[in-house]
Amino acid sequence: MWRPTALVVALAMISACTPDPGAPPAPSTTIAPDIAARRAQFVPKVLDAEVSHLSAGDRLALARMVEAAEAVDEIFRRQAWEGNPAFAAEVAALEGPGAADARDYYRIMVGPWDRLKAHEPFLGTRPRPQGAGYYPEDLTEEEFNAWLEAHPEDRESFTSLHTVIRRDGDRLVAIPYSRVYAEPLARAAEALRAAAAATDNASLRRFFELRADAFSSDDYYESDLAWMDLDSPLEVVIGPYETYEDTLFGYKAAFEAFICVAQPEDSAALARFKEQLPFLEQSLPIPDEHKNPNRGSESPIRVVDELLTAGDTRAGVQTLAFNLPNDERVREAKGSKKVLLKNIMRAKYEAILEPIAAVVLPAEDVERVSFDAYFDHILFHEMAHGLGPGRIVVDGRATEVRLELKELYSAIEEAKADVLGVLSLYQLAEKGEIAPEVVASQPWTFTAGLFRSARFGTTEAHGLGVVLQANYLLEKGALEVTADGRFRPLPDRFPEAIRDLAHDLLMVEALGSYDGAKELVSRFGTVRPEMQALIDALVTVPVDIDPVYPLAGLS
Ligand code: ZN
Repeated sequence: MWRPTALVVALAMISACTPDPGAPPAPSTTIAPDIAARRAQFVPKVLDAEVSHLSAGDRLALARMVEAAEAVDEIFRRQAWEGNPAFAAEVAALEGPGAADARDYYRIMVGPWDRLKAHEPFLGTRPRPQGAGYYPEDLTEEEFNAWLEAHPEDRESFTSLHTVIRRDGDRLVAIPYSRVYAEPLARAAEALRAAAAATDNASLRRFFELRADAFSSDDYYESDLAWMDLDSPLEVVIGPYETYEDTLFGYKAAFEAFICVAQPEDSAALARFKEQLPFLEQSLPIPDEHKNPNRGSESPIRVVDELLTAGDTRAGVQTLAFNLPNDERVREAKGSKKVLLKNIMRAKYEAILEPIAAVVLPAEDVERVSFDAYFDHILFHEMAHGLGPGRIVVDGRATEVRLELKELYSAIEEAKADVLGVLSLYQLAEKGEIAPEVVASQPWTFTAGLFRSARFGTTEAHGLGVVLQANYLLEKGALEVTADGRFRPLPDRFPEAIRDLAHDLLMVEALGSYDGAKELVSRFGTVRPEMQALIDALVTVPVDIDPVYPLAGLS
């Protein structure tokens, strides 16, 4: 088990945030009266990990990566809201009832808005800007689009993953991340270069050096390729990746970091599934013309334990797994890498999924839920992100699904990955590649899993994605509501309904149909009363874990 060394403890003390002594006294910021209940939704869990197999060089590199992660955290706080740095001083100065919980919740939410409650404010009354910290707070969708109509030459820089939009007099301008976040990025680059000097792993050194360069060039392509080539016991992600935080357009990438240690035995056991990707692409329930056999042949799978996370991924609900990079050019050249966070998965399964199953499933079905089914579904959800349409042609124009589906892309893509994940398990079980009992318990484990995500609310991509799935499965008769209000999967109808939904979602993506996405969301994206009643009954089950990393000076 991981025990913090003296070095790490000293480092944590140096880096711990201290309130600015010159900060003005806090105005009376109102705290939501139910702040204690909100904070209690997140159960602190210490995430230890085995690191005894790391070399001395990698241990030194680890300490420098913690510094880089702290810089990333600072950048993301601004991306979430440019007002955060100033507001943090007010939060630190809060006093009286609820102050401690409010501080914790502000840290967890990375801002004064509740990510579990449609971004409603829990501190003060200011509404959240839809474009987070990426756009002027008063910018509307109409104004942005009108600007691009009038200035088509700005389209590329304005829709770039790596720029923010600002006002310059009466003009709108795009400013690259390397300029907006120059100071923390320079610190992160310095720490990465120091980590590169410390590690004795050549692939890790190359990634660190190239990624440090990318922080000043905004060109992440070469370092994304190097990340795909990592062959190291340390698995490190650091940079701008997901676009969920940009709820205005979904164009802008948020900074995040994962510092993880690989579990080679588990990864080896799972790697054999990668050989099945061509078969799974060929088996997609859509016409052959929309299949994408060249999307990338190399899709390594890794199982790791988290030592520390920062930035986007640290905010709100903790991720169980990720599939990166998102750059379609890299994915076509090298595929994508699936990283499963095993210590997070186990913590959540025990703390959350089992208690949820006891509430939402009929009593006699609860024991059908299994950790193996849970683990395999997450694995195949991640594999499914690399299946199906990515770069597409719409009306003769080369584009990407992400750009065409705009703010609906994340929800559609997450729902696709969920259902295609289950469908893949069925297809591989038929082929004898998956143990029958893992597939047999899938409908119950999957159904409990829907409720785990639905609780996050439909403003969040995964939440909207699962509500859509639940409503679709209910309409197809693959789920039924029992007399006492539980959700019972009907295993005979389940596979066919999953296949139909996979088809519908994949076709929206294949055609780049924003209208099709809109129709699916408006038809299936609203929580039904039966589902809401069960979600309401989950109040006593923690929503998530609040990770405590012995490595961190962050928490
Ligand atoms: Zn996903």
